[in-house]
Amino acid sequence: MTPISASLVQKCGHCLMAAMLTAALFAGQALAAQSPEPILVFGHKNPDTDSIVGAIAAAHLLTAQGKPATAMAQGQPNPETQFVLKKFNMAMPAQLEPVTGKPVGIVDFNDAAQGPDDLNDATLVFMADHHKLGGLKTSAPLEAWLLPLGSSNTALYEMMMFYNVAIPKDLAGAMLCAILSDTLMYQSVTTTSRDKTAGAALAKIAQIKDQKALAYDLFKAKSAIEGVSARDLVLRDYKKFEMSGMAVGVGQIEVLSLSMLDGKKEGLLEAMRQIKKESNLHCILLMLTDISKQGTEMLAVSDDPSLPSTAFSSTFKDSSAWLPGVMSRKEQVIPPMEKALKK
Ligand code: MG
Ligand code: MG
Ligand code: MG
Repeated sequence: MTPISASLVQKCGHCLMAAMLTAALFAGQALAAQSPEPILVFGHKNPDTDSIVGAIAAAHLLTAQGKPATAMAQGQPNPETQFVLKKFNMAMPAQLEPVTGKPVGIVDFNDAAQGPDDLNDATLVFMADHHKLGGLKTSAPLEAWLLPLGSSNTALYEMMMFYNVAIPKDLAGAMLCAILSDTLMYQSVTTTSRDKTAGAALAKIAQIKDQKALAYDLFKAKSAIEGVSARDLVLRDYKKFEMSGMAVGVGQIEVLSLSMLDGKKEGLLEAMRQIKKESNLHCILLMLTDISKQGTEMLAVSDDPSLPSTAFSSTFKDSSAWLPGVMSRKEQVIPPMEKALKK
C-alpha cells in the first residue's frame, strides 16, 4: 500500500474496504490477462486442407498476437490433408467438442449448417473466410476477414503480413498446399492474383522451388479412392445448404482423371439416394471433377427431376451430365442451383 492510501485508511474504515476491493479487482484482472480461455479455431465439417491448415494458421496468428488459440477440427483429415500434415511435420488438430459459452474463431466457412450445432451459443471472435455470407449471427463485435479469394489461407497469409507475424517454414509449406488445393493450382475460376502472390511468397519461405510438382503430389493424394466406400466418397468433401427453404447437399470428388471413377458411378448414385433420404434433402449433387480435363461430371438426384437440367442448362442422362469448365462448387454450382430453386 502506498503511503497516501495508508494515510487514507487511517482516516476511515470505509476506505480500507475500498482499497481492499480495488486490490482484489486488479488481482482478478491480472489473473484473467494471464490465462484467458483459449480461442477454439476450426474450419467446416468434412474438413478439407484449407479448413485444417487454416485452423492451424489462424491459431498461430492469434497466439502470436497475445490471444492464445487452439486449432480444432470437425472431422477426420482426408487423404490429401494427411499427406500435407505428414509432409510438413504437423499434428492433426483435436476433434471439436461442444462450444457453448466458449470463445471461437472460424475459418473457411461462415454458414451455420457447416459448424457445430451449438455455434450460435458460442462467442464468435474471429473469422477468416472466402465464401458468401451464410446467415450467421454474432453476439459481440468480431474481427472478420471475408475476402473473395481462392483460398482462406490466402486471407490468413495477408493477415499475417498485415500484423507482421512471422510464418514458420513448415506452416508456410502447408498453407501453400491449401492454396494449391483450393484453387486446383491456380486453375479454378475462384483464383485471383492475390492467391498467386501469396503462393509465391509462401513457397519462398517453405523453400519449395517447384509448385507444380508439389501440386501433382497433392492431386495424387486427393485422388486416392481405392478401398473407400461409395458413401464415404460422397461424404468426403460434402456440404449441406439451404436454398429457398429446401435442403440441398453437394459433394465433390476431385481426381486427376475421371477414368479413375469408371465402374463406380452406379454405387455413388445409390449412396447419394440413401443420403438424400436420410437427410431429407430436396436434391443431392456430386461433382466428379477432372483436374486434368478441367471439367465436372455432375451426378444429380432430385425431387424435381428437371431441376439439374434447368440449373446447369445441360441435358442430364441417367442422372449425369458433363459440365465443361465447371470446377468450383461455390462459384459455378451453388449460385445456379439457388437461382433454379427460387423459380
Ligand atoms: Mg473448404
Ligand atoms: Mg476454402
Ligand atoms: Mg474444395
